[in-house]
Amino acid sequence: METVLITGGAGFLGSHLCDRFLREGLRVICVDNLLTGDPDNIAHLLGNEYFEFIKMDVTKFIYIPGRVDYILHFASPASPIDYLQLPIQTLKVGSLGTHNVLGLAKEKKARFLLASTSEVYGDPLVHPQPESYWGNVSPIGPRGVYDEAKRFGEAITMAYHRTHGLDTRIARIFNTYGTRMRLGDGRVIPAFFSQAIQGKPLTVFGAGNQTRSFCYVEDQMNGLLRLLFSNECEPVNIGNPAEHTVKGLAELIQKIVGSDLEIEHHPLPTDDPKVRQPDITRAREILGWDPQIDLEEGLSRAYPWFKRRVATMLEQENS
Ligand code: UDP
Repeated sequence: METVLITGGAGFLGSHLCDRFLREGLRVICVDNLLTGDPDNIAHLLGNEYFEFIKMDVTKFIYIPGRVDYILHFASPASPIDYLQLPIQTLKVGSLGTHNVLGLAKEKKARFLLASTSEVYGDPLVHPQPESYWGNVSPIGPRGVYDEAKRFGEAITMAYHRTHGLDTRIARIFNTYGTRMRLGDGRVIPAFFSQAIQGKPLTVFGAGNQTRSFCYVEDQMNGLLRLLFSNECEPVNIGNPAEHTVKGLAELIQKIVGSDLEIEHHPLPTDDPKVRQPDITRAREILGWDPQIDLEEGLSRAYPWFKRRVATMLEQENS
């Protein structure tokens, strides 16, 4: 039976990948050290005979017995708060971890897909960002630990491809949202949902004129699978090109949650990119992929889950 191994499989995107591959009829091995991953994300899969969870840190030597056809390397702290709090782990999983997982892919003759990121473009001087743009990253800034780790990840992936002929894919993932994001991971959508649901002011960093382009998780899964099953070895942007200001996002969340909340301005974090929008020409042309779910629709779909999650959090706090 075709088998896929997903590192970071208990995380936000990783756990959605586990679900998706099981639905596609593959056997799934989920590897996670649960540093930022959450066992709740895969709890519903534990009884499935085609699913296996292995608690493992991929920055150490890894050994997996048996057949593996595809490896998707998604292990990494991935929100600005996480990688500011875990700078060394972030650097290690992007470098040592990627090296180990590439070694495993080589051993198994598996196809390898790297979860890269729009952060490789840093605070971009080209807008929107095509894959040919080399980026504007501060190597020593606080975000550098993530950005440079992912840039190194891309470099070593291409080196394995060129040197060992490994079958590789690189997805440059732009901001993605949906169920299973951690409420406290600091990202703007879980932060605003959790604040709005509790009737608290929305924390807009800076004036809120910075832009992001948000992709609904289901669209992201479709893009990633198309890339994996394509023949494209060069990086491909996977994201929704509809660009929104953070202020605009706050207004949309207010509309969906149905509350008229105060906006509280906080300082803009260091190196926070001022704009971000994927140029997805390559994804459209090579993968025939285009996101289908606009921001208001995606937020409305995710809202009931966030509401339940906030309710559970409040119950736990009060017990
Ligand atoms: N942001 C904000 N309020 C928050 C959290 C984030 O205004 O409570 C802003 C942040 O400064 C950035 C944007 O929202 O400009 C997206 O931040 P996020 O952490 O979601 O992801 P990033 O794209 O920066 O990695």
